[in-house]
Amino acid sequence: MSYEVKQAGVVGAGVMGAAIAAHFANVGIPVTLLDVPAKEGDRNSVARGGLDRALKARPALFYDARDARRITVGNIDDDLPRLAECDVVIEAIVERLDVKRSFFQRLAEVRAPHTVVSSNTSGISINAMAEGLPEDFRRHFLVTHFFNPVRYMKLLEIVPNRDTAPRVVDDWMSFGAETLGKGVVLCKDTPNFIANRLGVYGFMATLKRALEEGYGFDEIDSIFGAPLGRPNSAIFRTCDISGLDVLMHVAQGVYDNCPDDEEREVFLPPALLREMVSRGWLGEKSGQGFYKRVKGPEGSETLVLDPQTMEYRPRQKFRFASIGAVRDNPDPGARIKAIMRGDDRAASFVRKATLDLLAYTARRIPEIADNPDDVDKAMRWGYFWAQGPFQTIDAIGLPDVERMLREDGLPVPNLFGRMLEYGDDTFYGQADGQRTVVMALTLIETPLAPTPADLTAASLVEAGHIVKQNASARLLDMGDGVALLQYDSKMNSIDDSIVELTREALEIAADRYRGLVIGNDAADFSVGANLGAVLMAVMAGAWDGLAAVTKGFQDANMAVKYSKIPVVVAGAGRTLGGGCEVVMHGSRARVAAEFYAGLVECGVGLIPGGGGCKELLLRLHATVKEHGPFPVVRTAFETISFAKVGTSAAEARTLGFLRAADRVSLDRERLLYDAKADAIALAEAGYTPPQPAAIQLPGAPGRLVLEQQLDGLRKTNKISDHDVLVATKLAYVLTGGETDLLTPLSEQYLLDLEREAFLSLAGTEQTRQRMQHTLSTGKPLRN
Ligand code: NAD
Repeated sequence: MSYEVKQAGVVGAGVMGAAIAAHFANVGIPVTLLDVPAKEGDRNSVARGGLDRALKARPALFYDARDARRITVGNIDDDLPRLAECDVVIEAIVERLDVKRSFFQRLAEVRAPHTVVSSNTSGISINAMAEGLPEDFRRHFLVTHFFNPVRYMKLLEIVPNRDTAPRVVDDWMSFGAETLGKGVVLCKDTPNFIANRLGVYGFMATLKRALEEGYGFDEIDSIFGAPLGRPNSAIFRTCDISGLDVLMHVAQGVYDNCPDDEEREVFLPPALLREMVSRGWLGEKSGQGFYKRVKGPEGSETLVLDPQTMEYRPRQKFRFASIGAVRDNPDPGARIKAIMRGDDRAASFVRKATLDLLAYTARRIPEIADNPDDVDKAMRWGYFWAQGPFQTIDAIGLPDVERMLREDGLPVPNLFGRMLEYGDDTFYGQADGQRTVVMALTLIETPLAPTPADLTAASLVEAGHIVKQNASARLLDMGDGVALLQYDSKMNSIDDSIVELTREALEIAADRYRGLVIGNDAADFSVGANLGAVLMAVMAGAWDGLAAVTKGFQDANMAVKYSKIPVVVAGAGRTLGGGCEVVMHGSRARVAAEFYAGLVECGVGLIPGGGGCKELLLRLHATVKEHGPFPVVRTAFETISFAKVGTSAAEARTLGFLRAADRVSLDRERLLYDAKADAIALAEAGYTPPQPAAIQLPGAPGRLVLEQQLDGLRKTNKISDHDVLVATKLAYVLTGGETDLLTPLSEQYLLDLEREAFLSLAGTEQTRQRMQHTLSTGKPLRN
């Protein structure tokens, strides 16, 4: 059971409050957003200012700016009674116990009996905040700690006070997961809860060790990002993004409030950090921190702070044998294990920092959590680590961790000693087909409740459910009569092998399954057709081959569209070019809220050649309200020629890449589960493929209008001659070539036009240069 939240209140319209309000609006919940009254003029201007900043924030906090209409602003003096109409009220005002307490006292006077109140504090004790509040208030009171930026950060830590009703906790946990799409972790009332306690420990310990041992901040960041399964911003760039004042405040908070922490001194901000904050060098928000961006003769450049001189110097490039040796290993745990065994500067730092963190984490049990899985989830979802500390211990091997601690003269945490004594050398296991975890306090192996997130392509592969596979894709059995086609090429780019397995998968699935899902576990569904392969064919003059491959991809997409059984395409993250075309041909799309779709081929001097032009025309035909075919053509022309990419599933819908019946999952981790359920539901409803479509298009007269626009843009130098050529070919396809308004055109006719235009553009020198440039730099070339 989860709350039905018909109205939410958020108090404090600063960084967090406005972002929390935005996320509630994203999921369709109306919000009353209050802040202090302004001293003069519009009394709501403080809250309104917060909302305006949320609207301007980049990356965007709203899925669709129009969602902001669900937020009404006000001030706590005039509008406090409006909070009595709210099912939940979230407090996000300044991090001061006295200020928060006095607000809760005022709220207690108007609160409706059913209203659940939460604080977004990052570190203040919930029991301290609850003191002196009426009993019924305390029963409905807890911490809901969101992470910044709220839309993108999955972690939501929930902390009850001594008197919170269990039902209130359960309801907020399911509301957070199911309605808000968050990864919810139940925490204890300890300073900074789980993620920031361990995360800030990691930052501070690394900072101190780097200063003591003379490692550059850029050097550490080159080690602690992707190689260790951490975000590219690694340690010091992440600190700059979060704000050094915030980091210092949180660290000082642990120092002050955890007198018994054996590593308390690590949290005491070093002189360098205090000096930087006193100089106002707070990181990105103040323009400089550990790094500083400056304008140089060749564009902007990022410099790094030298702590000896307090001057900024150019960043260096670093190469370490220990890291180079594991670069291509996709398993983050195996990479850490191998790097720790190396014998260079990187390996030596990684070994010490990892052992420190793993031992510190083990000693925080049961203080901050009882279940190692909660700790791992908090670090994966709150800090974007590929694996949490206990998963890392399992990957390295507990006996090895213990041996290295002893070799380095470090104390071995009790937990490790007890585990080894009882013969347990991993935290995670399997029993009766279910994942288990060793509860750290009792050492009892406990089943982990199954969740939709357990259904992954990797788990199906591990369980041996492979029906067929080739170099770039696999066909897997998801159970319950549904098959999964998983792309497994670099960045899931679409190549011959994927096209071939798509055809085979459709045949096998039509025979033996009731539905097919196309999807994977990766952050990005697909970056589109394999550009490298297209370029190679162009360079070799293999025109027949390229034509055959393009036709093969079109045929595969048509086979998806007209398959006898439902095909649900599960899109997430970047879903570009050919990837977007596949989504558009599914019987149904099931996409993550973070879905970035676009037909971006014009950027490399091509046009969509796998049915993207055709599908966009057909869809817009059904939705564009203006009369006649030209508005449809003009909209499709703008979307494709400007290579527009939606920045959310909501925007993809507005652009026409998703239909009304296509569904969105807020939590990317449950996408395959939801897509499978969609496939079953379609099959059970007696799925039949769509009727072949036909469309009327304006032909030459429509083209003339678009060409005049292009002429204007060329004359004012807004576009190049090659842009004109690409857009003219696109206009030819979208207006239906040599046709007139009265002739219904078949899908195959449009596919042939697309293919011809695609191939003729691929044969031009400028398109070849564009492809080459994008492949080597990742950026578009304007030529
Ligand atoms: P902020 O300074 O950006 O915003 C605080 C807002 O509260 C301001 O708009 C202020 O006018 C308003 N305010 C102050 N006193 C008020 C009162 N009595 N009644 C109503 N409004 C009042 O702060 P923030 O970063 O949004 O932090 C808010 C809370 O969220 C803090 O408890 C903070 O610890 C926590 N938090 C912050 C982050 C983060 O990354 N910034 C992350 C998680 C949690």
